[in-house]
Amino acid sequence: MSDPLLSRRANELKPSATLAVAQKARQMRAAGEDVLAFAAGEPDFITPEPIREAAKKALDDGLTHYAPTLGTPGARQAVADKLGSENGIAGLTPQHVAIGVGGKHCLFNAFQALLDPGDEVILPVPSWVSYAPQVQIAGGKVVEIQTSGESGFRMTPDQLRAAITPKSRVLVINSPSNPCGTMYSPDELRALAAVVAEMAASTAPRLVVITDEIYEKIIFGGREHLSMGSIDSIADRTITINGLSKAYAMTGWRVGYAACPGEFGLSFIKAMDRIQSQMTSGIPTFIMPAIEVALKECSGHVAKMVSAFEVRAQLIDRRLREVPGVEFPSPEGAFYVFADISAHFGKTAPDGTNISSAMTFAEALLNNQKMAVVPGEDFGGCGDRCIRISYACDEDQINAGIDRLASLVSSLS
Ligand code: PMP
Ligand code: GLU
Repeated sequence: MSDPLLSRRANELKPSATLAVAQKARQMRAAGEDVLAFAAGEPDFITPEPIREAAKKALDDGLTHYAPTLGTPGARQAVADKLGSENGIAGLTPQHVAIGVGGKHCLFNAFQALLDPGDEVILPVPSWVSYAPQVQIAGGKVVEIQTSGESGFRMTPDQLRAAITPKSRVLVINSPSNPCGTMYSPDELRALAAVVAEMAASTAPRLVVITDEIYEKIIFGGREHLSMGSIDSIADRTITINGLSKAYAMTGWRVGYAACPGEFGLSFIKAMDRIQSQMTSGIPTFIMPAIEVALKECSGHVAKMVSAFEVRAQLIDRRLREVPGVEFPSPEGAFYVFADISAHFGKTAPDGTNISSAMTFAEALLNNQKMAVVPGEDFGGCGDRCIRISYACDEDQINAGIDRLASLVSSLS
């Protein structure tokens, strides 16, 4: 696949597995095939009406020129206010906030702003497919912390302490987690924060936390989400990443943000401005008022979507347990189940596929049952024994999908 006319960077980079499977499912559907897609992490809901209306009005009002690179003062203020009042992150002003093209872009720019070649990024795995490639593009080195389904895919404070070295620059936390569907309790996060504070005062003075809280609102069973940026001992070295894609059903709008308080926050956001000004400029100007409407006026819409996700989480938890040889921790947040299907390795599917990996299991599921899931290899760690099922779809599809999965499993020989 590698082409000598391309850069080494381009030749070595993997495409996003989540987007690749979603694209394949879309193409099969367009070709008339009855594919059930559990691939992309994308809410099936349409964006709430007040947000759509705000963007339409902005277009009609002529907001069609360049916006400031990191967002209008009003949109940046709305993000700062939200993070202060909802997340307890103190001392944020609009100058501590950068708005970019989705959480993905903000993460990319953050790694560019923080990493020099050889710098270490601590990544508990399995983790979302884009963190490691983004670190790689920035020249950083990923240091994995292995987690497993039995512990809800959570790392322990001791594991974290053991992973930190003088070269540690960034710790990535993603709670609730994509792909794991589990989350840390506030006490567990406080214990991890205590390790960061302790090690930053000794071994790793340049350690920064990037906490990706994009699923913060999609949590179940009365669980509580705690923002790492609200913990005093590490607040000034904690960068919060979030966006509107998941909670507000706005994946196609491409709105994300990064924020960090204090003196370091100001210089970090200035660095984000320099990088983004040479890369994309600001996001579309007519989206800026819609950001304010989403953050200030749409909590009722979000609550309704979250209740629907909770019903779906309970349904998939119950139905998937009926399928033999599929192990997973119950969903706690986000809209993913990360299920260990390795009990089926060594078997053969009706179309002759030898199931030797998560990838071949996912292929057999697509070829034999027309059900698209993301194979776990690219999430790292024990992901090579797992498939990710995104259940951001209606209950009929969840029932039909689990029926198909059960049919595949019963047809294996
Ligand atoms: N972080 C995580 C953990 C995600 O799952 C996603 C998913 N798409 C993103 C960040 C980025 O989302 P977006 O760019 O749409 O804001
Ligand atoms: N984050 C979503 C997912 O994991 C959307 C695709 C992507 O950006 O990776 O499926």
